[in-house]
Formats: sequence, structure tokens, C-alpha cells
Amino acid sequence: MRAEAVVDLAALRGNIRALRDRAGSASVMSVVKADAYGHGMVPCARAALEAGATWLGTATPDEALALRAAGITPDQARVLCWLWTPDAPWEQVVAADIDITVSGEWALARVVAAVRATGRPARVQLKADTGLGRNGAQPHDWPGLVRAARAAEAEGLVSVTGLWSHFACADEPGHPSIQAQLTGFGEALAVAEAAGLRPEVRHMANSPATLLLPEAHFDLVRPGLAQYGLSPVPEVGSPADFGLRPVMTLQAWLAGVKSVPAGHGVSYGHSYVTPTATTLGLVPVGYADGVPRHASGTGPLWLGGKWRTIAGRVAMDQFVVDLGGDPAEVGDRVVLFGPGDHGEPTAEDWARACGTISYEIVTRIGPRVPRRYVGLGGADGGGG
Ligand SMILES: *Cc1c(COP(=O)(O)O)cnc(C)c1O
Repeated sequence: MRAEAVVDLAALRGNIRALRDRAGSASVMSVVKADAYGHGMVPCARAALEAGATWLGTATPDEALALRAAGITPDQARVLCWLWTPDAPWEQVVAADIDITVSGEWALARVVAAVRATGRPARVQLKADTGLGRNGAQPHDWPGLVRAARAAEAEGLVSVTGLWSHFACADEPGHPSIQAQLTGFGEALAVAEAAGLRPEVRHMANSPATLLLPEAHFDLVRPGLAQYGLSPVPEVGSPADFGLRPVMTLQAWLAGVKSVPAGHGVSYGHSYVTPTATTLGLVPVGYADGVPRHASGTGPLWLGGKWRTIAGRVAMDQFVVDLGGDPAEVGDRVVLFGPGDHGEPTAEDWARACGTISYEIVTRIGPRVPRRYVGLGGADGGGG
């Protein structure tokens, strides 16, 4: 075996339960976009549902359709999808009973056309831009969008099931934009309610808001990162501080061990040169597997009971570690990151080493790395 990502579904179920506790009376949407942040979309979605999530969230329509194709029925989970382009498979998503996020009247027109073509009404959720400046309708466009959606609803073409928005800075407690966005969302809800909309769910909270901002929970919370056991606010609290446990362990097995003299260059560009005669270990994963090239000379790993650092550049398929003369053999296990309780680095340690966020570390682990699922089944009580 070259490398694998071990995905602990018992940890994921425990994280969902911890998030349900935080959410109080609000329901939980498990955000499984981007292959469940690299953890594997369908197994993670099923585990989250076992532990009591009732909604699944995806960015793209293809992701949402893949959940339905895997056999996750509308009775098992509502699926909300939020990143639409004009050429999206509108008719398929209407037929698959997916809740469609609409941020502008152009998208509502596509939904209505798909409803007329399929003869099935659609569920839509209207998204307000309350300050993120990304997707969602601006306040000056919101009343028109609400009116158009209400008219389509009155005609029996769509049902407006939700109203929602997304935070820009929920991971910076006290940031003035948080209160401004909550106020803006309250105004957007009032406009929609005055126009006659009666949505099932109103929602704003991503992981940091689920953990830190009860006033943003409304009817539904949308955690992504936290359910994978990583802290969205590492300067505020570790995963354990929030009752979370990291789900992914990335490990590889040494593909080479050899002695080299002092002054030997290591990997492309010779950015590392051995200071003494030493032993080098070859770790058979690289940037094609999602190990950031920014980890060159800085990425941490756990090998032979010691914390070590990548020597020289990360290449496409492999990198090198200077073992400093410690005994090692081909086939020895190297842990790049894991929960951290056996001394190994965490995804957060990698994020810090690479100048990024743990979201990117786990999400980039590529398809060449097989996922192995452990903690299957609800022996821990599921959570229902
Ligand atoms: C990705 C995403 C989330 C989850 O964000 P986390 O910070 O990972 O919890 C929630 N809502 C939307 C709209 C998203 O795009």
C-alpha cells in the first residue's frame, strides 16, 4: 500500500451529535460539497443522516444528483444545492426533488421552464446577499425576486421552502459585519413575509456560527468543516474544545530508505542539503495527491515515534524526510495528519505550516489516495 486516507465515520457521527446539541431546536444540514471536503461524499452523507442530520447541502447540481443516484431518497434527506449556472441540469434536479437555491430572477426563470417541461413543481429557496458579496440577491433586487417567487408559487409552479444567507466573517467573533448581516437578514425575512412567503426553513449558520452564534441558528444550521472534526476558529478553540474529533487520517508507507553523505542535495532545486551523513526516507505522496507544494521544507509528519519535517521540495508523487540517522525500513508507516492523539500532526498543523486553512488541506486530498472507511454502522447508538 502506498498511501490512504482513513475516514472515521464514528467520529463523524459523534461530531454531528455534538453539532445537534449546539443547534438546539434547529435542524442540521450536513454540508457534503467537494466530496465531503475530501472525505467521500456518499459514505459521509449516510453517516451524517444516521446521526440525525436531516438535510444535505451541496454546491453543484451534479453533487446533489449524485446523492440521489446513490439511493438517498427525498424521504431520507432533503438536499439543497446553491451554485447554479445557466446550463445546469434544471429538469433533472426538479425531477430529483432537490431544493434549488435562487439568487436572481434569471435562475427562477430557468426553474419555471424546467417545471413546465417536467410537469412537476419545484422547491426553491431564495438567497439574500446580506454582506458576503458573493452569491445571493442584493437588498435592492430582493423585493423583486420575492414578488416573482411568490407569483410562481401562487401559480402552483414552485414552493418557496427556504430563505437564507451566508456569513462573511463568522470565524472572527465580534466582527462588525456579523451583526450587520443578521440585521440585513431580518430585513430580508420581513420583506418576504410581508409578500406572503411562508418558508419551512430560514438559515444562515455555517460551522463557526453554529458553534459560536446561537442567534444565527434560526430553523436550520449548515455546518461543513466542523462535522469533519476540524475547528473553523482555531484561535478560539481546538476541535476537542467544541466536542469534535478529526475524521480523516492521512498516512503513507516509506518507499525507500537510504544512507547519504553530508552535503547531499535533496529533491528538486536542492533547497535542502544534508547537514551531516544521514538516512533519508522516501514518502510516496506528492502534490498530485494533494500534499501542498507549499509544504516543501515545512510540512510535519509522524514517523518512528517522532515529529519530523519534510526535507526539500514536495514533488508531484513523492517527498523526502531526513531521518537523522534513526533506524527505519521500507514499509514503515508515516502519518501526515490525524486526530493528533498519538502525537501525530493534525490538518490544522498542516494548515499553519502551509499558510492556509484546514479546509483546504483535507479538501485537496486527491482521488489517487484511496479512502478507507472505519467506524461503520451505528454501534455507538446512531443518534436518531
Ligand atoms: C461551504 C458552505 C457551508 C459550510 O461552511 P463551513 O464553514 O465549512 O461550515 C455552509 N453554507 C454554504 C453556503 C457554503 O458554501
